[in-house]
Amino acid sequence: MKKIVVAIDGLSSCGKSTMAKELAQYAGYIYVDTGAMYRALALFGIRNGWITPDAINGEALEKQLDRVHITLKNMDKGLQHVYLGDEDVTADIRTLAVGDAASRVSTLKFVRRELVRQQQLMGREKGVVMDGRDIGTVVFPQAELKVFVTATPEVRAMRRFEELKAKGQTTDFQTVLADVCARDERDSRREESPLRQADDAWLLDTSNLTREQQRTILFDKFDARLQAFL
Ligand code: C5P
Repeated sequence: MKKIVVAIDGLSSCGKSTMAKELAQYAGYIYVDTGAMYRALALFGIRNGWITPDAINGEALEKQLDRVHITLKNMDKGLQHVYLGDEDVTADIRTLAVGDAASRVSTLKFVRRELVRQQQLMGREKGVVMDGRDIGTVVFPQAELKVFVTATPEVRAMRRFEELKAKGQTTDFQTVLADVCARDERDSRREESPLRQADDAWLLDTSNLTREQQRTILFDKFDARLQAFL
């Protein structure tokens, strides 16, 4: 059976990771959460004191980049675990602080070069669903199916707020909304691979869609696209 590459890009907290995960399970493909890779690298930088809330010591980080080994392991039920070396950091990378650091560290050229290289290796055999910000534009510009997911900032902030609350992290909605807007701004305006919809990407606005609807629409699109390549 021919396999394709599915590139799912979009703004933060638009539901793309959940959709990508579900699609990978449906298709029997490998799921790659590239945001988790930027987050793991950010965690590494924070722990070593090279990333603080105000600054990044890019020189130190670049020198130590060889020491960073990020692995994504696909578990049962579509779950993906993230490892930094031998340590499972799946939960540690899901904080607002690490998300913010990831968004800042991802603006650095040497960081993108290295992580994009690793992502291209992960998808070279195809049969992969990869989600991020630059998958359809930079990592796999030849992807057979490109999806660009959006939703209003308020809807996305509410989703992230509920997610953080469920994990027991105390925060308020306005803080999360401000964070979502700051990240949109940074992701869209950075010089290195800014977030943008690829010309041939299919736009999916999830603002008024339930999870179930999002899933159905995406699976249908995938089936149709796969047919076209058989
Ligand atoms: O998707 P997630 O919120 O986990 O990503 C964390 C940060 O990593 C994003 O805010 C974005 O700045 C960055 N990122 C990126 N390119 C990707 C994936 C994530 O720049 N392909």
